[in-house]
Order: sequence, then structure tokens, then C-alpha cells
Amino acid sequence: MKIKKTIKTKIVYLTKVKQRLLEEEYYNLQRFLHGEKVKLYSANKQQAKRFYKKIKPNKEYPISIRKDLLKVEKRNTKIAEYWTKIPVAGRRGGVWVAVKPHCPIEPDMEICESKLFKKNGEFFLYITVQKEAEIPKPQPITNKTIIIVCDIGEANPVVSVELWNQGKKRKNVQFQGRDVRSVRAHYNNLKKGVGRKKIKHAINWIKEHLANKESRKVNDILHKATRKIVNRAKILKRCGYEPVIVFGGLKNVRQSRIKGEARCRKNNRKIHTMPSYKIKQMLTYKALWEEVPVIPLNEAYTSKLCWRCGTLNTEIKKRSFRCKDCGLEYNRDLNGAINIGNMLLSYMLNSKAAVNTPQTSPEYAAPKGDPLAYQSAREETLSEI
Ligand SMILES: [Zn+2]
Repeated sequence: MKIKKTIKTKIVYLTKVKQRLLEEEYYNLQRFLHGEKVKLYSANKQQAKRFYKKIKPNKEYPISIRKDLLKVEKRNTKIAEYWTKIPVAGRRGGVWVAVKPHCPIEPDMEICESKLFKKNGEFFLYITVQKEAEIPKPQPITNKTIIIVCDIGEANPVVSVELWNQGKKRKNVQFQGRDVRSVRAHYNNLKKGVGRKKIKHAINWIKEHLANKESRKVNDILHKATRKIVNRAKILKRCGYEPVIVFGGLKNVRQSRIKGEARCRKNNRKIHTMPSYKIKQMLTYKALWEEVPVIPLNEAYTSKLCWRCGTLNTEIKKRSFRCKDCGLEYNRDLNGAINIGNMLLSYMLNSKAAVNTPQTSPEYAAPKGDPLAYQSAREETLSEI
């Protein structure tokens, strides 16, 4: 299976001549998009025609570079490890520029389309790379197996906990992504403000000024959270352990509501704008890229079950959880996470084929030709600017 990811690179140590060439190409593209006749590298022109159908007046568009025209080389020169050749008009074969990527570019990665853009006076090149990744099969459970459970919730978008020694030990509990709520709240207030001021075409105004920023910020938070989890799995793998990432994903949240809370607009909005789908996608792609098994589990009842004694005789209050049988009081999201992990463990111990063979249902593991995969790759590009 082929997986894509975007490597962010910054173009560094530009000579004056190269800077001028890149700037000419970049600004000529903007003028070209507004219908002017300019000198532009022909393939860059074609790419622009393909990708940019609607042109907004006050927006700058990146140069989309066709994959066969971009070259990436590892040279280990004094100023930079990596060099790329960017096609521009007026220089045959393009210009070689030094780049600093945010992660190593390995020789087994296939270079795909890339985007060159300018921000705050500096040039960045986002290279999409692709590699053939094998879907790893979870091995029978041993003492080396570490289950990394991620529960996706509302108050704590990403809760993760590691189960060691076949679930006997819990380690490294993390609550991540809480900032998502404040970002959302902030933008909601702004939107309300717009409504009150009676700005003409308020919806368009919101779309143009706020919508992108909000999702970019949310994506950024989620990327960081999921990256942290996958990096941890990577380290564990390197140390000789066998990490398995499992996540449950709020299947019925859209129908259910929190007990004691009215079904009102505010709560509806909170639930329906939850980034759970994004989190799952990000986790799956990032984990598969590192060849760590990822398993989605149906987490029915996991939020109501007591992880310690297994009873359903429990009470859920806002963020906490209390077991009426054994008296356990616990964080609600964490209780759910442990239950998901325990569920996977019991499946694995019983070696029930349905879960033991990696559940790479098409929904989670088919980026090829999947429009959402493409979209998420694009979002990745946008969100990390
Ligand atoms: Zn209990």
C-alpha cells in the first residue's frame, strides 16, 4: 500500500540571482492567474491551469511543481544537506537551491507533486512524498507488546495511555488537544460578532477570514498530538518493543447526548464539529508510515464500563466517572481509553481473528484514490504553514 506525506522544507541561503528567479516565477504566476500574459515556465503554467479554477482576488497561490520536474538530492554540503532543483522560466533546467526539511528525506521515498510558496519574505517548498508501506501484522501478544490506546473524546480530544505487561501496568497517560476547544470557542465568538455588526455578506466574510484559520489551527493542534503518539510508538519500536496503536472512535456520539444536558444549539455544535474523523485519519497515516500496526475498535460501552471490575453499574458525571460496585472514581475519558485497550488485549489473547488480523478496513487504510486522503494531505500542507 502506498502512503503519502508532506515534507516541509525551507529554502535557505538563496543567492541574489536565485532569489530573483524564484520571485519572478512566483509573482508571474500570480499575474498569470489574473489573466495577464507573462513569462512563466510552461509546465508551471499547465499545473496552475489544472489546479486553480477559481481565483480569489487577494490571495497568493503556490507554484505547483510537477513531480518529474523536481529533483531532490542529498549532497551534504557545508550549507545544507539537501538540494532541490526547481523549474523556472529563464534558466534552462531550473535552479538548484538548498533546502532544510523538517524530517529526513529517505532514498526510498518517491517524490510527488510539490508546492513552492512565499511567506514573510521567505520561500518554502512542501514536497509530497510517497512510499510503499507494508501493513504490519500484529504479532501474538508477548511481554514486549505495548498497547497504545487513544480515545477520542470531546473535552479531551486525544487521550492516550500505554498498557504494558498484558495490561497489568499503565504508563504515560496523556491528555492532548484541549486547545481545540478554546480555538473553536474563540472563532465562534468572532463569528457571532460578525453577525451582530450586520456585515454585508457575513457568510462570505466568515468563510474568507475565519474558516480557514480556524481549521488550520485545529489541524495544527491535532497534527502535533497524533505526531507525539506515533513518535512514542516509533521510539518503543526502536527499543525492541512491539507497539500497537488502537483507537476507539465515538461511533454513536451523533445520536446520543450527555445525560443531564439539554439538547441545545450549543451542545449540538460542540458534538457535530468534533475533529474525531481527522484524528483517526492522522493517526492511521502517521502510524502506517512508521510501520506500526493501527487497529480501530468499536468502542460500544467502553465509556460506561468500569475498567477495574467490569460492571456497567456506573455513574457518569460531567468529566468524572464513578463505579457503584467497586467505588472507583476516575477520569471519564481515561476510563474509556483503558477499556478500549483491555478489549483489544482480550481479543488478542483469545486470538480472535477478526481483530487479530490487522483491521485495515477500507475506511482506514486505503489512501490510494481516496479523495479524503488527498484532502488530508492537502490539509497537512496548509495547516503546517
Ligand atoms: Zn468498578
